[in-house]
Amino acid sequence: MSKKLPHRQLATFMQIPLISRIPWDRVNWTTSIFLAVINTLALTAVPLYIWHYGLDWFQAGLFFFFYMATGFSITLGYHRLFSHLSFKAKSPVKMATLLFGACAFENSALDWCSDHRKHHKHVDHDDDPYDISKGFLWAHIGWLLFKLGPEEPMDNVNDLRRDPLVMWQHRWCIPIAIFLGFGLPVLLGFLWSGAVGALGGFLLAGVLRVFAVQHSTFFINSMCHSVGTRPYSTRCSARDSAVMALFTFGEGYHNYHHEFQHDYRNGVKRSNFDPTKWSIWTLEKLGLVSDLRRVPDEKILLAEMQETKRRATLNTDQHASISAVLGQQMHDLFHQLSDRLSANYAAIEKAMAEKVEVSRHVMENCRRETREFAALLSDLERRLPLTA
Ligand SMILES: [Zn+2]
Ligand SMILES: [Zn+2]
Repeated sequence: MSKKLPHRQLATFMQIPLISRIPWDRVNWTTSIFLAVINTLALTAVPLYIWHYGLDWFQAGLFFFFYMATGFSITLGYHRLFSHLSFKAKSPVKMATLLFGACAFENSALDWCSDHRKHHKHVDHDDDPYDISKGFLWAHIGWLLFKLGPEEPMDNVNDLRRDPLVMWQHRWCIPIAIFLGFGLPVLLGFLWSGAVGALGGFLLAGVLRVFAVQHSTFFINSMCHSVGTRPYSTRCSARDSAVMALFTFGEGYHNYHHEFQHDYRNGVKRSNFDPTKWSIWTLEKLGLVSDLRRVPDEKILLAEMQETKRRATLNTDQHASISAVLGQQMHDLFHQLSDRLSANYAAIEKAMAEKVEVSRHVMENCRRETREFAALLSDLERRLPLTA
């Protein structure tokens, strides 16, 4: 398939237009240089260090501790606590997440939350800071490297401005990040094994950890808006991905999160891998956090049903093609499940309006029938062009 490009054409394609297309006057130099250094060191100096000096358990443990502390501070603190107010936290939890959150070098909690609230409000549109419609790379990292317009006012975080801890961290974010995020690993590494240990602390618990946590956050903005399923809504690009949840402390269930942003859970199903949700639940048992916000099961199921109904809205030609290509039996099954879905939807909606509790058995039955229909729709979408 691929035809070799002549040299001149290749050079033109690879270099000249690319470089000339970069809006140099709009580069955010401080952030760009920092990210370039971190990424370069993580991909060169870190492997070289491990190859040369090996990896002892102390350095591995130090990396692991800083990775977990920083990662959870972003997901549990910056994201679910400060951006979405999905639970209330006592000062030690706030303080810990603000201190280690700063070490991710993702800006102060105040800045981060302002961007993130804009993302939810304007998702997939121009005012979304990491708008996926501008491309995967833009949503992943490009939005940090360039400033397209003038600085937007931060008028959506006035509640956080009233929190003295948040404002203290906003003021001292960079010194905290440098001393706690790099200084402490260097000091501990030095105390463990001298200069080589200090270098190891800098490169592993410092550089490699910042690299890992940052790309984990970036993946939520890029990958979780492009790869995965949309069981709760197709209103925006956000997607659920169990694989991404593994790399993002449970934030991969992004379709659910965009639909129900105030829920302290992102992976709402019991089986979902969401260590941030488990940590918040554990902190509640320890009395350190309270008022965990949960969307009622009925509301979640209604969203799932609504989305399945939308997918099942077919025109006459599409109905005809089911019978013609897959047979009358399949068409009958489609209608049977579609009728069940409508009846279940109406029953749950009515119970909710009348504030009547729906039994567990009925809920499970509705859920099972909805997923059975959703599976049939996926099968039909694979076998026939059904996009409604
Ligand atoms: Zn998102
Ligand atoms: Zn969010």
